Amino acid sequence: MRNQVQNQITDPEVYKTLLESTKAIPWKIDWATMKFAYIGPQIEKLLGWTADSWVSAEDWIARMHPDDREVVPNYCITQSKAGHDHEADYRALTKIGGYIWIRDVVHVVRNEQGEVTALVGFMFDISERKKTEEEVLRLQKELEHLSYKDGLTDLPNRRMFDSVIELEWLNAKRYRHPLSLILMDIDFFKQYNDHYGHLQGDACLKQVAQILSQSVTRSRDLIARFGGEEFVIVLPETDAVAARTIAERCQHLMEQANIAHRKSEVSDRLTISIGVNTIIPSQKDDLLAFIDKTDRQLYLAKEKGRNLIV
Ligand code: GH3
Ligand code: MG
Ligand code: MG
Repeated sequence: MRNQVQNQITDPEVYKTLLESTKAIPWKIDWATMKFAYIGPQIEKLLGWTADSWVSAEDWIARMHPDDREVVPNYCITQSKAGHDHEADYRALTKIGGYIWIRDVVHVVRNEQGEVTALVGFMFDISERKKTEEEVLRLQKELEHLSYKDGLTDLPNRRMFDSVIELEWLNAKRYRHPLSLILMDIDFFKQYNDHYGHLQGDACLKQVAQILSQSVTRSRDLIARFGGEEFVIVLPETDAVAARTIAERCQHLMEQANIAHRKSEVSDRLTISIGVNTIIPSQKDDLLAFIDKTDRQLYLAKEKGRNLIV
């Protein structure tokens, strides 16, 4: 013969044992007085505060992280008034001064007239879950950061350039500001690699990236690695004269750096060719055409003999 499982528990002691043996902490608040009618003794193990120290909703609020203290209770009160069951995550203060992430799952009890009489709920310790969540967020941020950075030179990469130039193009169009672009390409870099080896070629690119970074000063200026040994500078709110000055500064900085290049046909030092272009874009202008034109200026600088600004 099988035992029939009873579908009803008649003994209140069984309820109590059940409630107080779970990891989740049960509680009840009387709506009229906002006082705790009950809180599971497990609360002491989790937060250090004894069950009888939880007198009213005020204690609940006071033992909350300052950053949660306003938003969370407001949300819970609004939901409760509307008669909606709800959940809230917050940091609860422990007796020794730490914080534990809690998820409170709340059921709103109403009488036959539909009036709220009490709130009952369970507090769950979700610190582990939050830790994982925070770690995932941190990794996501790092990934985002990495995917906008060039691995070799540490400069912003082509993708970053694409995003920024698009944004600055729209800005320049809207406010009718000049936007300047500088494209740079190292002269005879193939020969550099062939002569000094690819590894030293890499080291040289890193050094050039550092050197050229010193040419810009405004926080909105962007210098990025455009391609292999090509670099680009986006200069918002910069006219042709100012852009030319920065291009000259780049050339001057390269001169000062004095990097040997025995196989260059224009100098015994590493040099760059530069294309500069400025525009106040109107509705009919096209961003790609603007970049393309800058690229052609660079090509002209190469044609005219390299180590030049066009
Ligand atoms: P030009 O003066 O006409 O620019 O001559 P160039 O030799 O520099 O010609 P080009 O710009 O076409 O060649 C680029 C060279 O840069 C070819 C390629 O091997 C080298 N390069 C591109 N990316 C890297 C890199 O990440 N590391 C190294 N070491 N070399 C690179
Ligand atoms: Mg080159
Ligand atoms: Mg090139």
